[in-house]
Amino acid sequence: MNIKKIKEDFPILKKKINGFELVYLDNSATTQKPIQVIEAVNCYYENNNANVHRGGYELSRESTDLYEEAHKETAEFIKAKKMEEIIFTKNTTESINLLSFSLGEKLKKNDVVLTTKIEHHSNIVPWQQLKRKGIKVEFVEVTKDGKLNEKDLEEKLSFKPKIFAFTGASNVLGTVNDIKKLVKQGKDADALTIIDAAQFVQHKKINVKKLNVDFIAFSSHKMLGPTGIGVLYGKEELLEEMPPFMTGGDMISKVSCEKSYWNSLPWKFEAGTPNIAGGIGFRIALKYLERIGIEEIDKHEQKLLNYATKEMQEIDGIEIFGPEKNKLGIISFNVKGVHPHDVSSVLDRKGIAIRSGNHCAQPLMEELGIKGTARASFYLYNTKEDADKFIEGIKEVKKIFKVD
Ligand code: PLP
Repeated sequence: MNIKKIKEDFPILKKKINGFELVYLDNSATTQKPIQVIEAVNCYYENNNANVHRGGYELSRESTDLYEEAHKETAEFIKAKKMEEIIFTKNTTESINLLSFSLGEKLKKNDVVLTTKIEHHSNIVPWQQLKRKGIKVEFVEVTKDGKLNEKDLEEKLSFKPKIFAFTGASNVLGTVNDIKKLVKQGKDADALTIIDAAQFVQHKKINVKKLNVDFIAFSSHKMLGPTGIGVLYGKEELLEEMPPFMTGGDMISKVSCEKSYWNSLPWKFEAGTPNIAGGIGFRIALKYLERIGIEEIDKHEQKLLNYATKEMQEIDGIEIFGPEKNKLGIISFNVKGVHPHDVSSVLDRKGIAIRSGNHCAQPLMEELGIKGTARASFYLYNTKEDADKFIEGIKEVKKIFKVD
């Protein structure tokens, strides 16, 4: 992997922040975009812009073909059976809302949905909405080092949940879940299995067919693609049975004043004019990731993670949260005596962008007994020099706040 060359593909990384070259370490929130993606979006608007699936004219056919190609590329990326199983949404949040709405239609009072205490709010709040129907939401406990508590998981699965929705990896701690094992355990308990893959697919290869998972959800903007495009993968036979989430134009095959009939998959779940340019840009992002190789990207992140973690362990008064092994290139930490927002503000003065706060995971924060953390997250364009600047920044925080 030629990082120098990769870095050149990302125009924003040349930007100066407060007089310093940008060191972008908030990749779990969103990633930067390579010039290839930016150009693909511009090129679409300059050359192919028209609505999809509507016009019987050349430009609309071009736009439709490009948009459908994006579904095909996504299917290949996660090894789905066919593009009919790929629904474009706005983001992971919308994908999970779609599931809670459509699957929720079939659930009955006292049915159980099982999720975990390590989840992002978007894999908690949509399920809580089903409580209005008398559905129970249960949570698998986490261990002190941020892993799922296996004993508790077994116990909660014995409640025979109808749905087991869990994250592939934690956006806060970087914990990587054993998705193969979890899907199997969910299936053995006769639950529908859902992976929130928002922090997974950009770091780890996934093969949904082999995994036999029922649904996965993820976001383009966390994997070099545009914002406003998300994915819901679902097994064809399940999607066929489910009622649509949003209704209106493009998702129907026939409408009369009395009744409407749904369009075929995946369009049945894509009501209204979709984010065409976003989908087209996303296809190029996937191609970019495939050219570099997800495994190569993962290896690179692991090197940075190990290096930065060791350096941080040398500094007194730093608490690092999460497991020691099987984690993404994410370091969630606190500097003793300093608020995480202050840590991030000091780093920002040097052009270093990290995240601070509860990371949309308040139940996890409660479990850890903290209000928030500072979080640095690496991706393919980050370098050892970025890690060094980050470490120097932390030392500076300690000096400024006079904590030892
Ligand atoms: N799930 C996880 C694990 C996440 O980290 C995030 C975003 O950080 C989401 C879901 C929500 O993603 P989006 O905001 O793109 O819907």
